[in-house]
Amino acid sequence: MGAFANVLKQIDEVAVFLEDDFEDKKALKSALKNLKKPQKVHKTTLKIKLDNGKTRTFKAFRSQHNNSRGPYKGGIRFHPNVSEDEVKALSTWMSIKNAVVGVAYGGGKGGIVVDPKELSEAELERLSRAYARFLSKFVGPWIDIPAPDVNTGGREMAWMLDEYEKVHKQSTPATFTGKPIELGGSLGRTEATGRGGSYVLEFDSALTGVTPVKTSVAVQGFGNVGYWFSKLASDMGYRIVAVSDSSGALYVKKGLNIDKVKEDKDKYGSFEKIAKVSKDKYKLIDNEDLLGLGVDILVPAALENAITKKNAGGIKAKTIIEMANGPVTPEADTILEKNKIEVIPDVLSNAGGVTVSYFEWVQNLHGYSWKEDRVNSELREMMKKAFDSIFEIKKQKNVTWRKAAYILALKRLVTAMMLRGRC
Ligand code: NAD
Repeated sequence: MGAFANVLKQIDEVAVFLEDDFEDKKALKSALKNLKKPQKVHKTTLKIKLDNGKTRTFKAFRSQHNNSRGPYKGGIRFHPNVSEDEVKALSTWMSIKNAVVGVAYGGGKGGIVVDPKELSEAELERLSRAYARFLSKFVGPWIDIPAPDVNTGGREMAWMLDEYEKVHKQSTPATFTGKPIELGGSLGRTEATGRGGSYVLEFDSALTGVTPVKTSVAVQGFGNVGYWFSKLASDMGYRIVAVSDSSGALYVKKGLNIDKVKEDKDKYGSFEKIAKVSKDKYKLIDNEDLLGLGVDILVPAALENAITKKNAGGIKAKTIIEMANGPVTPEADTILEKNKIEVIPDVLSNAGGVTVSYFEWVQNLHGYSWKEDRVNSELREMMKKAFDSIFEIKKQKNVTWRKAAYILALKRLVTAMMLRGRC
């Protein structure tokens, strides 16, 4: 099943819980139907010159899911598996996520079908600029605000902003978030997704009454999100026993030194290589084995569909904190629920990134920048409010964390659509 079918199933599963909240059942049905289809999906084929003088083409997309709560907002992904189905799913999750944390945004997502490792820096710049020219007709500070996602970061946002501003002949830093600080980026944005996740971990520990030192954690993925989550959780005293990248996983039962792992990852490139050069310091295990470790908390922070009906039965963790987008399929969710494994969903756990993107946009629109302490404390406050609201619904309706989060978000989305007469 594709990622978009997964999100449609997730919406269907909570539709019944919304009936108590809306008198006009016909309008509710119509709003939910509209939410199951992005408003627009833009597609193109980008053509760029390679360093060797030849030309190469790349498929690219931007899905604009729903803007009833505010401009579309969501990242740009560079990955060989990017597809129309994937951007449609990711843009829908963005509408839900933005409604969960209560930022005045709708959902969007874009991507290019490319393996960035195959391109030189100059080729990547030409590709990013070509994509920004394509986007320039339908993004902007009050229309759609892109940001980084898998394999993109401040560097790509800087190229895209520059190209966008060339087309529009004006300075509009609020068009892209996740920019370098020098170009109007926000302090704290780089680590924001991981930081938001670490707050969720802290709130959940308070709820279950466990202390960080007694809590073991395994993290799949060691990119921006996986690294910052691991680093901040480790600084809070949690024991990170395993981390993985696409080459394999490093495991140390008494806990990894995350700063050292990061230093080695930057030096040697892959965990497989680190394990080879470090001899007995780490145990190298398969990615799949990491998912089945007997830890307290499992954190998928790589890509979607990591936990499916095939491997869900082997999960031994007590709680899963979804830091990637869509890492657990609906079939896997059912198995995990049966096995009494709590899943704190992506639309809450990884919402720290878009929340600080929202702060970046607010700062750009005001032409003013906040101190890092303000960014982090306002982030914590918004994550806590969302966590508490979801927990209330979870208790009241006796549903999973995911269903509670969807009920909260869909209620907000449907209300906005009804107020606008869009159903
Ligand atoms: P990234 O490109 O920085 O890192 C991805 C990491 O996943 C890399 O370490 C890669 O080696 C690893 N990986 C890929 N396939 C793997 C596999 N099969 N097993 C183990 N590791 C594997 O990307 P990122 O920005 O860290 O994003 C990760 C996830 O978080 C994505 O789902 C993304 O949509 C989501 N997300 C990112 C942000 C953000 O602010 N960057 C915000 C919200 C959600």
